[in-house]
Amino acid sequence: KTNTFHSLRPKAPLPPETTPLSITHFIFSQLQASPPPPPSTPALIDPATRRCILYPDFTRRVQTLAASLQSQLNLSNGHTAFVLSPNSLHLPILFFSLFSLGVTVSPSNPASTNPEISRQIHLSKPVVAFATSATAHKVPSSLRYGTVLLDSAEFESMMTCPGPTPELPRARVNQSDTAAILYSSGTTGMVKGVALTHRNWISMLAAAFAVRASSPPAVWLCTVPFFHVYGFGVCMRVLAFGETLASISGRFDLRSTLSAVEEFRITHAAWAPPVVVALVKLGSELGGYDLSSLQVIASGGAPLAKSVIDKLKKRLPNVQLAQGFGLTETTGRVFGTVGPNETRVEGAVGKLMSNFEAKIVDPDTGIALPPPTPGELWVRGPFLMKGYIGDEAATASTMDSQGWFKTGDLCYIDEQGYLFFVDRIKELIKYKGYQVAPAELEHLLLSHPDIVDAAVVPYPDEEAGQVPMAFVVRRVGSVVDESQIKDFIAKQVAPYKKIRRVTFINEVPKSAQGKVMRKELIKLALSKL
Ligand code: AMP
Repeated sequence: KTNTFHSLRPKAPLPPETTPLSITHFIFSQLQASPPPPPSTPALIDPATRRCILYPDFTRRVQTLAASLQSQLNLSNGHTAFVLSPNSLHLPILFFSLFSLGVTVSPSNPASTNPEISRQIHLSKPVVAFATSATAHKVPSSLRYGTVLLDSAEFESMMTCPGPTPELPRARVNQSDTAAILYSSGTTGMVKGVALTHRNWISMLAAAFAVRASSPPAVWLCTVPFFHVYGFGVCMRVLAFGETLASISGRFDLRSTLSAVEEFRITHAAWAPPVVVALVKLGSELGGYDLSSLQVIASGGAPLAKSVIDKLKKRLPNVQLAQGFGLTETTGRVFGTVGPNETRVEGAVGKLMSNFEAKIVDPDTGIALPPPTPGELWVRGPFLMKGYIGDEAATASTMDSQGWFKTGDLCYIDEQGYLFFVDRIKELIKYKGYQVAPAELEHLLLSHPDIVDAAVVPYPDEEAGQVPMAFVVRRVGSVVDESQIKDFIAKQVAPYKKIRRVTFINEVPKSAQGKVMRKELIKLALSKL
């Protein structure tokens, strides 16, 4: 017995690997396959403005924009486009156009600070940026083709030129070309650029087709940002299925989210755990919203507490909670919960998606363990990233020679093949589902003249899941205090990365090899609870 788990789902047929094919060409051929969405089906809805784009207009805009980007900006295969924008109707159109040309899309969090953006640009080397009038000032002016404003009349005209609609470009895009560079710190260290190929996304979509449980007129409400692999994946899946995607931009507000569910008769919600936490806390006010259209709430990106799941079942007994589990490096969801039978399994984050293998490994020996023993989750299959761009050492340390990717997550798989998440072994902190890399904050702390050593660990928080907590060793004689340290960091990072707790210690505990003993610090932090 090898203790390797194979997906129990139907095998998802994939196009031959060497056939040139962009994600957009793949999705458009799926959309044309029977039955295509009726022309009156909205592809995209912006609940804030009530603007809606129907499928025929959506495909026309993708094709027109691709032709404009090719002829006006000279964008072509091998270029990278940096994107800095909250969710909007324009983003899916932009992504699909760029993919069809073979241009790599690299979306970043619009809340990022200038140094964070500089680092990302240094990694992905874009020739052009797409931003909004609110975010454009953060993009360096040195990009070869400058910055295009997504909320300008100029961009609108690039999507809607008069005359016949141009065909989708016939640029030669190999499936092995990089379609997207998303940012993740992985199991350790600073932020890295995760290169995901057209093949990765095509396999992810093919696996979703293999278990498709919804059908038009499914209407999705996505509050997860498209720059994160979860939102990016939802955007692609919903549009590949010919379903409707409503997405919310900007700061999350529960009441406007619930009003949107009511007004647009949302059937499927793509949410992160903090939205579900906020929803169950709403109490009797929840009864003021007509949520009768809602069939499925999808949650992923971070764990959902059992107490929250229980409350949700009581509050919305007819809604299925479908958890998904994945990483940026696995093109998102690698375990998913599909359909009423699977969503009934308490606390499970899902079953392996098609064409994938998994094993649970003793992190110290690398030996695969039998179910249901907990250990580190390793996965292997066609949605595994090409690698961290320009960082072969980091790529090699997370993928072994047989193609297994080490997730850094402590999990177990039961006899039926359901995955249960236990804890994170890796350094990564998740604040409301967003990644916070301790190494980045430690680096900033060490740049403070009064700090001689520091370590950052996760601290549990009901609303956010985890918050970053710093253990700080002050220079002898220094009187720098907690709020000064918090301010020092807050000025330099996006708001979700702020250090929210500080404890002063005499020494950061380290192993004989000089590695910070994070588990010791986490224990120390918890002992102060
Ligand atoms: P990211 O690359 O930002 O998607 O982060 C991936 C990490 O998020 C995983 O390695 C897990 O630690 C965590 N994660 C994602 N989905 C879940 C889930 N459903 N339950 C618990 N943790 C999750």
